[in-house]
Amino acid sequence: MPELPEVTTTVMGLNEVLPNLTITDVWSDYFLRTKNKQTDTIKNKKYFEYFTRCVVGSTVLTTERRGKNILIRLDNNHTILIHMKMTGHLLYGKYRQNLNVWKSDDPFLSDPFNQFIHLVFTLSNGAHLAFSDMRKFAKVTLFETNTQDTISDLSLLGPEPLEQTSPQLFTRQLQKKPNGKIKTVLMDQGVVAGIGNIYSDEILWSAGVHPETVVKNISKENILKIFTAMKKILQQSIQMGGDSMSDYRNIYGKRGEFQHSHKAYRQTGKPCLKKGCSGTIVRKVIGGRSAHFCDTHQTV
Ligand SMILES: [Zn+2]
Repeated sequence: MPELPEVTTTVMGLNEVLPNLTITDVWSDYFLRTKNKQTDTIKNKKYFEYFTRCVVGSTVLTTERRGKNILIRLDNNHTILIHMKMTGHLLYGKYRQNLNVWKSDDPFLSDPFNQFIHLVFTLSNGAHLAFSDMRKFAKVTLFETNTQDTISDLSLLGPEPLEQTSPQLFTRQLQKKPNGKIKTVLMDQGVVAGIGNIYSDEILWSAGVHPETVVKNISKENILKIFTAMKKILQQSIQMGGDSMSDYRNIYGKRGEFQHSHKAYRQTGKPCLKKGCSGTIVRKVIGGRSAHFCDTHQTV
């Protein structure tokens, strides 16, 4: 699932191309091809009709990120909210439509992971903003921009780890879940926003903290190590264009590079790369998710 660095990479890309473009048409087959017909998303046909009425003719002002959500601000007091979930990613370029299949001649947009197009915005410059989503778990909806504080997808989110979080605030946020296991708590979007399975594994490996450590038992010193590792690793991945070990691609259809820097995530059985550590990376299911960690230097 795209996490903070991947969503940031997408948003930075959208801000290179979308501002001042008008949406001239919208196409989707989500409501035909998805069993889950949530009433307030475009997976519902009636909602998609409303969505189309609101966005066609509007002009994009800017795009922002909040947690793992993409917020496309329109000039008519509406914001498009996209949560990419497991396999969703936005792609920008020229597409051709043949019946219900959208294709591009661009070699990057033709990457096999970019072929699951279920939503397309046609733009006033003749280009398209397409959304590839193999598993079709993504959420696409719309809200009136001045009602943002009432939108639960956003209002329940914890602070942004890069822009809003100080060591003191981070400590207070963790302490909201004193009996939680640290990996699970780091991935709780109400504690800090934007961290998922990849970055929680990498942060805890770097900090030398076992993922099952209960929050109230973590020393002050180790909380600071986790905080420092969190900032460093998220920034490092943004600089590398995010992580494309799985489906994620940037808006030009290209891979990020962070998957080549994994020290723990999906490195099961490999020797630990920490200097002086002779441990091995192991995998264990914690809170329903796979955790990867060193059996030696990450201690409870
Ligand atoms: Zn180790």
